[in-house]
Amino acid sequence: MKVMKFGGTSVGKPERMHQVAELVTKTKEPKIVVLSALSGTTNTLVMISEELANGNKDKAKQYIDDLEKHYHAFIQNLLKGKVVQQKAENIIKEHFEFLNIILRISFSDALNKDILAQGELMSTKLFSLYLEEIKVDHLLLPALEFMRIDANDEPDLKSIKTSLSALLKRYSDKKIFVTQGYICKNVRGEVDNLKRGGSDYTASLIAAAIEASVCEIWTDIDGMHNNDPRIVSHTEPIQTLSFEEAAELAYFGAKILHPTCIWPAQKSHVPVKLLNTMEPDAKGTTIQDSVEAKGAKAVAAKDGIIAIKIKSSRMLLAYGFLRKVFEVFEKYRTPIDMITTSEVAISLTIDSTDHLKQIIKELEPFGTVEIDKNQSIVSIVGNCVVEQKDVLLKIFQTIHHIPIRMISYGGSLHNISFLIPGKNKNEMLQIINEGVFGM
Ligand code: ADP
Ligand code: ASP
Ligand code: MG
Repeated sequence: MKVMKFGGTSVGKPERMHQVAELVTKTKEPKIVVLSALSGTTNTLVMISEELANGNKDKAKQYIDDLEKHYHAFIQNLLKGKVVQQKAENIIKEHFEFLNIILRISFSDALNKDILAQGELMSTKLFSLYLEEIKVDHLLLPALEFMRIDANDEPDLKSIKTSLSALLKRYSDKKIFVTQGYICKNVRGEVDNLKRGGSDYTASLIAAAIEASVCEIWTDIDGMHNNDPRIVSHTEPIQTLSFEEAAELAYFGAKILHPTCIWPAQKSHVPVKLLNTMEPDAKGTTIQDSVEAKGAKAVAAKDGIIAIKIKSSRMLLAYGFLRKVFEVFEKYRTPIDMITTSEVAISLTIDSTDHLKQIIKELEPFGTVEIDKNQSIVSIVGNCVVEQKDVLLKIFQTIHHIPIRMISYGGSLHNISFLIPGKNKNEMLQIINEGVFGM
């Protein structure tokens, strides 16, 4: 059995959804099809939630009405038959009635998650109706019946496996299952989600749970490129990546993949393929256990980074100092991305300002705390890239004029990371493309 995940742009227009149906029915192999919300929907749902949280009901209502219009227009071109169109109208009505009811009740975090879930619920129901119209036998499998997160908001793979296997066994006569990406239930039994871009994570978790033959991530580009195609003009797809390389790239900003979506597939040795819905015959990128070629393969960048420096003469020769510093970050569940130390100072980076004030307050007793916001991490990734002397030389020759705040080298064999001011990021990505990748 394989997993096929289609992102927002792949289902964002009626003709694209038709194309998805074609791709899904092309091979006989049984499959679980994971869909995102139509492109733009989750962003709008986020805006609706924000307006409600701020008490701006009129603004929220406006967004709801505009979104509803979009869906009515969508089904006109998705479906032909009057009966099935009416079914689609009813589905849309039901979901928008729900959003309108929310306008009248007091806003809460749980309600926010319910709002955010509407996109995937609608996209899968509409796709299922289209399959019904073209007479493709399939089953709509509600993700809320098997996707679970634990008390730490981490996926509960064991429970996912048990529930999903039972469902698949119950419907063993079916060959095509359609389910929602992104959404899940939490330990309180409420609707929750796997964070923005989380449909990739759903796909990989399902692939691991069923030990799929492959986890295909269908998107709007022909695989992982060597550089950010939104910023740099000449980029090329990479044919193969190891799980480690892909994880580093996704974590350090390659938006094509959700950062955490690699581990489930890696754990179960399921290859991940990144493919283009608009160009289905393109090779794309295959992510697998190991790769031969060494050297720099790609560069990615992560924005919105905060650098924190703690200077303390007491750190000199002191043991236990780092533990105390790290405990502060652990307390506020804030992951650290990069870290460098000297005898008198420690510099580290985080990507969330959620608890910054409390963190600074608790760090202050240790020494002088300096904060730099709006930084970017630029990571050059490749199999054993840190062992390639010529690559290092090229990198440093290329970026010599960029103000570098921190360098992380040697933590992993596959990654060299630089912390630079955010305003220099685009230039750095462009010159690395020329100086390191020769493009
Ligand atoms: P989906 O909606 O299918 O989940 P995303 O928008 O999340 O798609 O991811 C695809 C986008 O990722 C591409 O359109 C591209 O602009 C962007 N992207 C950023 N970095 C890279 C990269 N290194 N290689 C390929 N795509 C990238
Ligand atoms: N629809 C969700 C989002 O836009 C999840 C996803 O598309 O992966 O973040
Ligand atoms: Mg995505």
